[in-house]
Amino acid sequence: MSGNDTNSLNLKSEQQYAQIVDNASQKNALVTSGAMYDQVRRVLSRLEPIADQANTTGVPFKWQLALFRSNEINAWVMPGGRVGVYTGLIQTLHLSDAEVAAVLGHEMIHALEEHSKEKAGQQTLSSLATVAMSAYAGSNAGALLGAASQMGIGLPFSRRLETRADLGGLMIMAQAGYDPHAAISLWQKMASLKGQSNTGGLARFLSDHPEDAERQKAIEAALPRAMALYNQAQHPA
Ligand SMILES: [Zn+2]
Repeated sequence: MSGNDTNSLNLKSEQQYAQIVDNASQKNALVTSGAMYDQVRRVLSRLEPIADQANTTGVPFKWQLALFRSNEINAWVMPGGRVGVYTGLIQTLHLSDAEVAAVLGHEMIHALEEHSKEKAGQQTLSSLATVAMSAYAGSNAGALLGAASQMGIGLPFSRRLETRADLGGLMIMAQAGYDPHAAISLWQKMASLKGQSNTGGLARFLSDHPEDAERQKAIEAALPRAMALYNQAQHPA
């Protein structure tokens, strides 16, 4: 698609993101301070310059963060770099900064490579914004996000795009100085949850990610390249 389409998609994404954030705020489900917010904000800020260097869309991104108070284990990104993270992901999995970087790096690649365009498939551009979101782990963002976005949230990316996001995200986190091994521990934590799944969110997560072992193998195979980048990078204090 052309740069014009990218602009148009970004505009729709901007409007919809604002609506979601506003809706969450009204429900007192938007977290804008505290340790968890500071953690995600800190990691995102560190990844931003690396991601911006990798931006070949022709449109500069303004990375934005919304942290939602929800038990769901989920994160997503909308076109143009609008990120949504759920407190359940951080809290339930006790994510380290490096593991948060693995999540955010993955989402950043979805946005930078404009994966939502491929996901949209045959749909017209005007309906793209409603399919613009990627669910990282869970799939149904639920009532929190409001009616405007519900139809898009559940659509998963293809396995191929998920792999691209995993491996591209690995390089972004490594370049930002986060140990890429954390991408492995992140997925191990996710996998360990499956054994004790007792919520709807986790059941959905289960059905969305049947190929954890393959995923971990692909990440492990890319680790030497990521470690070379990590060893050259400045590490967070
Ligand atoms: Zn993904």
